[in-house]
Amino acid sequence: MTDDCVVNIKNLSVWFRGRESKGLLKKYTPKPVRAVDGVSFMLRRQETLALVGESGSGKTTVGRAIMGLLREAAGEINFENQNIVSANRRERLYLRTKIQMIFQDPFDAMNPRETIAKIVSEPLTIHKKNMAAAEQRVKVSRALTDVGLSPPDDYMDRFPHELSGGQRQRVLIAGALVLNPTVIISDEPVSMLDASLKVEILNLLESLQKQHHFAQLMITHDLALTRYVADRIAIMYLGKIMEAGPTRAVLSRPKHPYTRALSQVVPTLDRVGHKKIILSGEIPHPSNIPRGCRFHPRCPDAVDICSQKVPEDRILKDRMVHCHLAEQTQEYKEQ
Ligand code: SF4
Repeated sequence: MTDDCVVNIKNLSVWFRGRESKGLLKKYTPKPVRAVDGVSFMLRRQETLALVGESGSGKTTVGRAIMGLLREAAGEINFENQNIVSANRRERLYLRTKIQMIFQDPFDAMNPRETIAKIVSEPLTIHKKNMAAAEQRVKVSRALTDVGLSPPDDYMDRFPHELSGGQRQRVLIAGALVLNPTVIISDEPVSMLDASLKVEILNLLESLQKQHHFAQLMITHDLALTRYVADRIAIMYLGKIMEAGPTRAVLSRPKHPYTRALSQVVPTLDRVGHKKIILSGEIPHPSNIPRGCRFHPRCPDAVDICSQKVPEDRILKDRMVHCHLAEQTQEYKEQ
C-alpha cells in the first residue's frame, strides 16, 4: 500500500448462493449470484471516491464488504495492515471503530423509541465500554454541534419523529462521526432528501471531511452529484468496475460506452462531444452474467470479440477502462 492509501481492495468478489429450485427443477444446481465479481480499487487518505452504478450493480455490496459484514466476501480488503475479509470477530469489532457507515434512509436506520443522545452514543456504548457517561455525553454533544445541531442540549432528549428529514440525516452523520473514524462509507446519503437539503448535507459532509480528515467512499446512483463532491469516481456495472479515474476527466471525457451513456445526464459545460448513446434493455440479473464483456448486450459499440472474451482492465493516462476498445478507436483516444 502506498502512503496515502487507506483502503486497498484487490480482486474482491461477493458471490451469494442462488435460491434452490422446487419441484421438477430441484435437480438443477442454482447459479451463484455474483453481486461483486473481481473488483479492485484504492481509497486514498482524505479523498472522496464515488462508487457509481445502477441498482443491481453491486456498489452497496462493496460497502458492506468493507464494513466486514459479509461472510461471502473473498479477495482482499486491506486496511491498517489487516485483510478485513479474513479478520476474526474481535478484529472486525476493532475495524468498525475505524470504518463507519452512513445509511440511505434515516427513518430505517434509527430506533424511533430512542432519544437522539442514545442513537448518537450507541457506537461509544458498543466499542468504548469503559467510557464514563459524562465523557460520552461530551462526545455526543460535540458530534451534534459538528453536524450543525446546535445547541446540542436542544436535541439530545428528542426522538427521531420530532426532527425534520435533514435533521435526522445530520443525526446519522453525528453517529458515524462520534468515534472519529478514518473511513466513512456513505450509502446514497442524500437520495431521500429534497434538492435544497441535498446541497446542505453534501456541503456538511465536505466541511466535516476537512475538519476530521476522514476518507469517504460515497455510494450513489447519481452521477451528476459526483461532480460536486468526489475527487475520483469508479463506475460499476453488474459487479465490475467499468471505468475509474479523476471525476473531472471521467465526466468530461468518458471513455467507456457505459460511462458515456450515464454521463449524458450530467450538465458539464466542458464535455468534449461524443455521439449520443441510448442504453437498451435492463441490467441483467447477477446470476446470469453475459459471456465475454458483461456490458455487450447493451453496448452500442460492441464488436464480435465482445461477446467472446472478457476485456482486460486497460490503464490509460489518467484512468482505468474495462473495454476491448479502450485504446483502439478514435473516439476513445485522449482528447
Ligand atoms: Fe462495449 Fe465491447 Fe467495450 Fe464491452 S468491450 S464496453 S461490449 S466495446
